[in-house]
Amino acid sequence: RIVAPQSASPNEDSIERALRPRALDEYIGQHRVREQLEIFIAAARNRNEALDHVLLFGPPGLGKTTLAHIVAHEMGVQLRQTSGPVLERPGDLAALLTNLERNDVLFIDEIHRLSPVVEEILYPALEDFQIDILIGEGPGARSVKIDLQPFTLVGATTRAGMLTNPLRDRFGIVSRLEFYNVEDLTHIVTRSSQLLKANTSPQGASEIAKRARGTPRIANRLLRRVRDYAQVRADGKIDADVAAAALSMLEVDPQGLDVMDRKLLEAIVHKFDGGPVGVDSLAAAIGEERDTIEDVIEPFLIQQGYLQRTPRGRIATQTTWRHLGLTPPGGPDL
Ligand code: ADP
Repeated sequence: RIVAPQSASPNEDSIERALRPRALDEYIGQHRVREQLEIFIAAARNRNEALDHVLLFGPPGLGKTTLAHIVAHEMGVQLRQTSGPVLERPGDLAALLTNLERNDVLFIDEIHRLSPVVEEILYPALEDFQIDILIGEGPGARSVKIDLQPFTLVGATTRAGMLTNPLRDRFGIVSRLEFYNVEDLTHIVTRSSQLLKANTSPQGASEIAKRARGTPRIANRLLRRVRDYAQVRADGKIDADVAAAALSMLEVDPQGLDVMDRKLLEAIVHKFDGGPVGVDSLAAAIGEERDTIEDVIEPFLIQQGYLQRTPRGRIATQTTWRHLGLTPPGGPDL
């Protein structure tokens, strides 16, 4: 799926790393989050303390990992990276924590998927920079406290609602990343074009930005595919027409919706009379995982006004009917 916000392959990962901004002032958009971090980082540095723990939430591809790296860079410390599902046993997390140096950043992606036993270890680590570990087995087992260096946990999650309350309460800084507007995405495409040495006109960059589902990772991916197209069909020059032709070949429509988006909207309209329909029925109807629908497909459709989430299920809006070339149920004027 060309506009899937997750990274698709190790090759893509390495290109992403190359395009990743390193410093806070290279991080485009998200002004509110950036300003907050700027102030909190400057204050922590001033006091020579670790930054408070940071929770970043928002759909995939909006720049959570990038921000974690930037926090470490701006604090002048090392970053260690892991993810919720990878930490299977308490010992896995204990090993990471005891290796941290003073004020280091520990980045845990998908932190809502930590297992409860691992999460238990994290509480005292976050609160008092201490962990309790059990040494030995059976009646001779005893618990030993180990002091840790002060550190900053940066946690990332697609849905803050999936975190347990005790974990969420331990973050001093909670930031929600928003979808990017076209102007910021145009800026990102222009910057990436320079790094990739792609010959992109301002109109070409804006055409790609408009269709990137508000997501920098998708903007960068579309740019690379459009660059391929331009190389073979247009002497390498990416202008608005070339970008539009390449993107329609990739079945990304002018509003940035792709095949999966349209499949979901069409299912609601044609199979469920426009809704309301529960997410499980929808998942079965389009053959997609419920989590993918909730984390990846839906947030953008809701933000753009194609979909409403109600207690009784998902409803297609008038915009959706029109987008699919149909007359909305209440008539064309509604
Ligand atoms: P997430 O962790 O939220 O899934 P990432 O931090 O991996 O997202 O970001 C995906 C890609 O998008 C990065 O490789 C980076 O190149 C680009 N990116 C994200 N946010 C920004 C931004 N604010 N400015 C410029 N590029 C960005």
